[in-house]
This record gives sequence, structure tokens and C-alpha cells, in this order.
Amino acid sequence: MSNGAGTIYLVATPIGNLEDMTPRATRILSEVDLIAAEDTRHSAPLLKHLGVRTPMVAYHEHNEDQKAPELIKEVLAGKSIALISDAGTPLLSDPGFRLVTAAHNADITVSPIPGPCAAIVALSASGLATNEFLFAGFPPPKQGARQHFFERYAAYAQTLIFYESAHRIVDSITDMAAVFGDDRMAVVARELTKKFETIRQGPLAELCHWVANDPNQQKGEFVVLVQGRTAPAGEEAISPETERLLSLLAAELPPKKAAAIVAEVSGLGKNRLYQWLIEQKSEKG
Ligand code: SAM
Repeated sequence: MSNGAGTIYLVATPIGNLEDMTPRATRILSEVDLIAAEDTRHSAPLLKHLGVRTPMVAYHEHNEDQKAPELIKEVLAGKSIALISDAGTPLLSDPGFRLVTAAHNADITVSPIPGPCAAIVALSASGLATNEFLFAGFPPPKQGARQHFFERYAAYAQTLIFYESAHRIVDSITDMAAVFGDDRMAVVARELTKKFETIRQGPLAELCHWVANDPNQQKGEFVVLVQGRTAPAGEEAISPETERLLSLLAAELPPKKAAAIVAEVSGLGKNRLYQWLIEQKSEKG
């Protein structure tokens, strides 16, 4: 850059298969003055494998606030830095946001060096719609918050993409089936690019049963994709009076209970009413 500053490179690294490291990414890691790594101990074997000897500094979610300005100072002084995370593309459910924002504010060039990203890799092989999708990252760990989180997306027509860890995969898919419906199509993409890579499509209830009953399917790293909502043909219309009653009751009661009471009064299906409530919530954000 003409102001004498260096560049910040965002370098994608493999998500399991070392052969996915691009020659350009390796070259950039060798050429920069410093590598800011999410976990230096984790990245050391990769750099050794690549023959990269550039010094590393730790840059993770717990020191971002302090480290970002320090790194910006170094780049303004002319050094170039590469940011890497433990796997895949930096900033995608990984640290780096503070650094990139600060770089733009300081007029520093940010240059992405593309490579794997689990969400995109999974989407491309999912068989679900790719023209519109929504990346939602990790669902919250606690069940109540997780169900509310899914409810926000229940009415979205776009393909939904979630990350999940091995110890929560069964609970998470169980909650997805409860909120999105047993029959909503979904895909579990596990251990992408690795030896036990598995990509399976099916209705959520079936996927839930399959994962819950096979301990091997609960190991490793997961992307779960859920088909966007499609309004079923001949979906029952809800009258404005019924909508009003439902909204009033839902302000006082849990949505399932409100839907059940209004189903009794109106003769409409309680699942349809519950779905409507969730859609209202998700539209309001
Ligand atoms: N920045 C990374 C990326 O570009 O994909 C993601 C980092 S995030 C902290 C880690 C999560 O990504 C894992 O818990 C899992 O949900 C997903 N993930 C990463 N590698 C994966 C793989 N090989 N197969 C399936 N999911 C993976």
C-alpha cells in the first residue's frame, strides 16, 4: 500500500485433509512477517508439514480486544501478517472480526486467500437449494436457548446451515426436529474431507433416529443443513380473528399450549397454528 503499511492476509487452511492447502496459501504463510494463529500449538504441526518457518503469535477470542490494535500497529509500521484459524476460513465461527474491522478503519489492505470452509463444502454436496442460504453458525448449548434460536429461522425459505460439535449433535438434531418438524428435509455432513466423511440426506426425524442410534455417527465434526420452509399445497388459512386469539394467548402461554387451545376452538390443526406462531416470531426477529 502507498501509505507504507503492510497487508493483512486471511489464509484458509484445511478442514481435515492437508492436501487441501493451496500452494498460494503456503507461499503467503512463508512470505509474511508474522502469522496470527488461533492456537499456535494446534497450527505448529501444519506449518512444520508445509516447511513454513514464519514466527507465530496467538490471536484468539480471549485476546482479540488487546491483540487487534497491537497487530494493526505492526502492519501500519510496514509488516505483513497472515491470520489463520484452527481449520478452514478465518472469521467463519472463528476469531478475526476485530482485526478485519480495525484494518478497514486504518485503511489497511485485507486480502483473503481462499480455501476450505466447512459450511460451503457441506452446502455444495448437500443436494439442498444453493441459490439462497443462511449461515447460522453454532446453536446455543442450552436447550431452551437453542429451541428459541431455531424458532427464529423456522419460517425462512432459505437453506439453513448450522455448525455443531460431537457432544451436542443428538440434542441439537432432536431440537431441530421439534421446531422445524419431523418431516423437514435436512442433511448431516460429518468429517468432511476426512477418512470417515459421511453426508446423509433425509427427514429430520429419520436423521435424528439414525444419529442417536449409531455411536459412530456421533463422532467428529458436523455441519447440519436444513431445507428452507416451503408452504404445503392447500395450507389451511387462518382467519384474522383466530390469528388475534392466538397472538393474545401466546403472549401469556407457551406457544404449544396456545396453539392447542386455539385448535380446540377453531378446528384448525395445532401444528399449523404452532407453526404460524413461530413464523410470526421469526418475522419480528
Ligand atoms: N472456520 C471454519 C470453517 O471455515 O469451516 C469453522 C470453524 S468452527 C470453530 C468449527 C466447526 O466447523 C466444527 O465444530 C464443525 O461444526 C465445522 N467443521 C469444521 N471442519 C469440519 C469438517 N471437516 N467436517 C464437518 N464439519 C466441520
